[in-house]
Amino acid sequence: LLVLVWASNVEAEHLKYLDPRQPLGARIADLLKRMTLEEKVGQMTQIERKVATPQILKDYFIGSLLSGGGSVPHPQATAAEWVNMVNEFQKGSLSTRLRIPMIYGIDAIHGNNNVFNATIFPHNVGLGATRDPQLVRRIGEATALEVRATGIQYAFAPCIAVCRDPRWGRCYESYSEDHNIVQEMTEIIPGLQGEIPANQAKGVPYVAGSRKVAACAKHFVGDGGTHEGIDENNTLIDSRGLFSIHMPAYYNSIIKGVSTVMVSYSSWNGKKMHDNRELLTGFLKNTLKFRGFVISDWEGIDRITSPPGANYTFSVEASVNAGIDMVMVPNDYISFISILTDLVRKNFVPMSRIDDAVKRILRVKFTMGLFENPYGDLGLVDQLGMKEHRILAREAVRKSLVLLKNGKSPAETIIPLPKKAPRILVAGIHADDIGLQCGGWTIEWQGQPGNITSGTTILEAIKSAVDSGTEVIYSQFPSVSFVEENDFSYSIVVVGEPPYAELAGDNLNLTIPEPGPSIISNVCGSSKCAVIIISGRPLVVAPYLPVIDALVAAWLPGSEGGGVADVLFGDHGFTGKLPRTWFKSVDQLPMNVGDAHYDPLFPFGFGLTTNATKA
Ligand code: BGC
Repeated sequence: LLVLVWASNVEAEHLKYLDPRQPLGARIADLLKRMTLEEKVGQMTQIERKVATPQILKDYFIGSLLSGGGSVPHPQATAAEWVNMVNEFQKGSLSTRLRIPMIYGIDAIHGNNNVFNATIFPHNVGLGATRDPQLVRRIGEATALEVRATGIQYAFAPCIAVCRDPRWGRCYESYSEDHNIVQEMTEIIPGLQGEIPANQAKGVPYVAGSRKVAACAKHFVGDGGTHEGIDENNTLIDSRGLFSIHMPAYYNSIIKGVSTVMVSYSSWNGKKMHDNRELLTGFLKNTLKFRGFVISDWEGIDRITSPPGANYTFSVEASVNAGIDMVMVPNDYISFISILTDLVRKNFVPMSRIDDAVKRILRVKFTMGLFENPYGDLGLVDQLGMKEHRILAREAVRKSLVLLKNGKSPAETIIPLPKKAPRILVAGIHADDIGLQCGGWTIEWQGQPGNITSGTTILEAIKSAVDSGTEVIYSQFPSVSFVEENDFSYSIVVVGEPPYAELAGDNLNLTIPEPGPSIISNVCGSSKCAVIIISGRPLVVAPYLPVIDALVAAWLPGSEGGGVADVLFGDHGFTGKLPRTWFKSVDQLPMNVGDAHYDPLFPFGFGLTTNATKA
C-alpha cells in the first residue's frame, strides 16, 4: 500500500500541469516538455465531427473538433443528445497518455444557430442597427449559455468584418460598414467569454469558466473589403485603408481578451491571408501581442494555391510558418498530420514554431478550465431556447428595425398601426416562415425556408398583437382583385431575400426577388401598406417607394418575430438606425459613408423614430 501511495504521489508531482494551483506558465511549460512531436501536431489539428470517432481523437491526439455549418448529429437533435455526443468524444481525448482535453467549436453566430430549438438572435447587421453594445453583450452571455447547453466550449464568433460592399453574401455577418460600430460591438466578446480581470496583461486570452465559451474574432483581416464584394476574393486597399478600416476591431477584441482569431480566405493586395506571415506573426502576434491561438478557416490553407490543394505540402509549410496555430483541416487529417510531422523532422517548419502554436492552444485550454471541467454538463440543457433568451432576442429585434418611410407625407404617418381595425391583410411568404426570418447559418449552413426550428413568425406575432375583433387575413401572393374586393383597413407586406450564406450569397443585382415586387404593386396600389423587408442587406427599393406608405428594414430578425409587432403596433417606438448606406442603384456600389461622391437613397445612420403609444 505504501508503495502505491508513494507511486501515485510521484505521478501527481510529475503531472504538475494537471494541478490547477500551479501558475499558468508553469502548467504550459510542464505539459509541453512531456509532449512528443505527434502529440504536438495533434493539438494543432482541428477535424470535422463527421470524420471523427473517439478512437481517432485518441490515436491521433486530435486537439479540436468542429461542427461546420449544418453539421449536426441530426437536424432535430436535443441539447442532451449534443452533450452526450461531445462527452463521448471527450472521453477519447482524455484516454490519451497526457489526458489533454479537446475543444469543440461551432458557428454560433446568431445564437447557437445549428441547434434545433435554440434562440436565434438577429444577424449582426440588425445588431449594428441597434447601436447598443450592452444589448449585444447580453446576447453574447445568452449565446454562451446556449452553446454550453450542448456541451460545446468554443464559438466561431464574432465576425468583425467591416462589410464595405453589400454585394458580398456575408454582409449580414458584419455589424456595419463603419468600423466604429464594429469596434463597439466587440462588446459581445466579454459577453461570450466573461469580463477580463483588471490586472490581466493585454493580449492574454480569457474565458471565465464553464458557463462561458472561447470566442473567435474573424476573419483576419480585410474579409469585408473584397473587390465587388466577391467572397474570399482580393481586398485591394493600401496599408492606411487596411489599418484604419479593417484592423481596428481586432485591437478592441484583443484588449477584451479574445481567445482565438480566425484567418480570412481573402487576400490582401494579392497575398493570401493564410500565407501572410507579416500580418499574422509580425503584426497580430508581435505588435498587437495577441497570445491566444490563430486558427485557419475551413480548408483555408488548401486555398493558398490555385487550384485549392494543388500542393498541400507547400500549403502546410507556408501557413504554419506564417503563424497559423490550429488548422481547421477539417477532413483529411491523416495527410495534414503526416505532412506537418515530416516538415518538422526535416526542419522546414522549426520546432520553435510548433512549440509556440501548442503553447497558445494549451494557454486557451488551461485558462478556460478545460482540464478541470472537460465534460459538457447535462444540468445546463434547459438553457437552450429558454424564455429569458427569447425575451432578449425580441428586444433585439425591435431595436434593430429601421423605419425608412412613414407616410407619403409627414401628415399621413401610418405607423404605429392601429390594433383595432375591421380587417387587415398580411401578405408575402416571408410573413409566415421561420426559416426565411432567420436567414443563412440557421440549422443548415445556407439556411432553409420553412418550419426549420421553433419561434414566432411575423404573422403569428401580428395576430397576437391586434385586438381580438380585428380580422387578420393572410395571403402569400394576393391579386389586385383580391385586395380590392376585401376592402382592407391596411396591409402589411413582408418581402425579401431567400436564405443564403457564404459564396452562394454573392449577388450583383440586389433586387427584391419575385414575387416580392409583384406583391408590393398588387397590394400597395389598392390599400394603404407597410412594407417590411427581410434581407441581409439593403436592396433596390427606389422604384417602389412612391406606392409604399411605410417601409421597414427588418434585416434577418431570427426566431422572435414578436419584436416586429412590438414596433409596428406601437407597444415600443422605432429607434433603429441604418448600420449601412442604402443605395439608390447598384451601379453606385461600393458606396460608404464618408465617400467623396455620397448620394444614397437613405444615408448611413438614417432611421425615423416613433413613440410608444402604450402607457
Ligand atoms: C467560414 C467560417 C466558419 C467555418 C466553419 C468557413 O467556411 O468562412 O466563418 O467559421 O467555415 O464552419
